[in-house]
Parts: sequence; structure tokens; C-alpha cells
Amino acid sequence: MKQVDLLGIPFLYTNLQQFVSLLDKRIQQKEKTFVVTANPEMVILARDDAAFMNVIHQATYITADGIGIVKAAGLLKNPLPERVTGYDTMLQLLTLANEKHYNVFLLGAHENVLQTVKTKIEINYPGIRIVGAHNGYFNWEDNNIAESIKSAKPDITFVALGVPRQEKWIAENLHSFKHGVFIGVGGSFDVIAGTVKRAPAFWQKLNLEWFYRLLKQPSRWRRMLALPRFVLYIVKQKMKGPSS
Ligand code: UDP
Repeated sequence: MKQVDLLGIPFLYTNLQQFVSLLDKRIQQKEKTFVVTANPEMVILARDDAAFMNVIHQATYITADGIGIVKAAGLLKNPLPERVTGYDTMLQLLTLANEKHYNVFLLGAHENVLQTVKTKIEINYPGIRIVGAHNGYFNWEDNNIAESIKSAKPDITFVALGVPRQEKWIAENLHSFKHGVFIGVGGSFDVIAGTVKRAPAFWQKLNLEWFYRLLKQPSRWRRMLALPRFVLYIVKQKMKGPSS
């Protein structure tokens, strides 16, 4: 499958619809799949932290989460079709799971958020069987969660522990599972529960979703310092000429 390398990270050349079909095929074939949806902050984090870079490289697929990745790929003359975010992928997977009666496990967020998400899925996607749910505030050494996922055998596990916790958790525990899709979805549970609002369509159209989130959650500013560094790396790479 075609990949586009961006600062050492191989992004899958795909759009959302193709990607979800690909995941569906792998679910049917009982293949194990680790999905990372990477945004510019994560690219920078991986460049600063070799262990995290290693975790990301264990993913079966890495998709472009954020307009910054798509723009950068275009600038480097190695374009990606569109962004494939964790949130959008989660919604599409829920629709798929509803149609095909797939089993789903929810891992992450605060207990009240988790319970709201669970109820909303039960109401809006009655074809889904939720085979387990656990909040995201547990002892890292606790093997019980991996054990319950192992015995529940979900087709899809949504892991909402935030970056980089969710990717690390999946990478560390993946060996315990036989099959299924494992995808880090960041703050998606909060968005589905309604505790955090996604940017209105207007902001999304202007590609200013990141700015909207900054206005709503000013505490994110520190994390956003990675963005100018990302731009700088991309410009440097561009000046070096076509990469191999
Ligand atoms: N979270 C969690 N366990 C933790 C830390 C965070 O379950 O130990 C959850 C948190 O409640 C929230 C999500 O992880 O639902 C992180 O959301 P954020 O918007 O920070 O995601 P990111 O932008 O890092 O993908």
C-alpha cells in the first residue's frame, strides 16, 4: 500500500472511506490492526522521543490526523488525499459496526464520560454489542484490562487515553490480543459525550479547528508550541530538495 513519508513517519495514502473499508476487510479476516492517527504535535513528539517514535512505527497504519499533515505532504510534493482523523474514523467505524453487528470495547476517559458514550452508542447504534468498557484512569501495571479485552474478543477497541498514552498502551498490550482493530481516538469520547464540543462547520471549513480548540481550551497552548516547529522542519526539508 502506498505510503507518504513525512519527517520519518510513513503515512498511509488513503481517504476516510477507503480506510474504513480496509479496516472492515481486516476485521472480517480476523487480522490484528493497530491504527495511529498522527497530527503535527505527534510528529514532533516522536522526533523528540525515540521511544515514542518506536511505538508509532509498530502501528499497522498511520493516517494523517490534521490539516497540517496534509498541507505539509502537499508542500513536499508528495500529497496525501485528505485527513483521516481519529474522531471521524471512530464515527465511521461505529456506523460500520452497527451495520455488521461488530463487537466493540471502549477504553478511556472519565467514568461519567465513558458511561454517557456507552449509553449514546446503545441508543444510536443498536446493532453494536458493547462487550466491555473501562475508564482511562487505571494503574498502568494493571493487567486486568488487557485480560478483559482478551476474553471479550472485540472487533474494535477504541482507546481514548490521549496522546501518547493511548499509543503506548496499545503497543505494550497488543501481543495479548488475537485480532481486532485498536485505535487511539484522543478526546473523541469527550466530544461524543458532549463535554467538549467539536468546532462548528464554519471553523472546520476554514481549517481553523485547531484555533477553535485553543480558544475553548486555552490550556492547550503549550502543546501547540509544537506547530511552529513542525512548520520549520517541513520548510527545512523542502529546501533540501526532493527527499528519497
Ligand atoms: N485520559 C484518560 N486517562 C488519562 C489521561 C487522559 O483516559 O490518564 C483521557 C481524558 O479523559 C480525555 C482523553 O484522554 O478523554 C484526552 O483527550 P485529549 O483531548 O487531551 O486528547 P489528545 O488531544 O491528546 O488526542
